[in-house]
Amino acid sequence: MSVWKFKSCPRCQGDVYLDKDIDGWYEQCVQCGYVLDLRPIADVPDVTAEETAASEVKVRKTSRRR
Ligand SMILES: [Zn+2]
Repeated sequence: MSVWKFKSCPRCQGDVYLDKDIDGWYEQCVQCGYVLDLRPIADVPDVTAEETAASEVKVRKTSRRR
């Protein structure tokens, strides 16, 4: 299930759709592939299982998506 927002891409003015994955909501442009994460980045610790096992947990505020 997704919600369309026509001509609202900030990069190419293309059509973007709202969709949801296991991490939460995001917008993606079908024309250029632009992705905007809609969930608050601060609420999403970007820590993988391997990093957790390797050392102490570090909470990074960078987004996983490009
Ligand atoms: Zn676009």
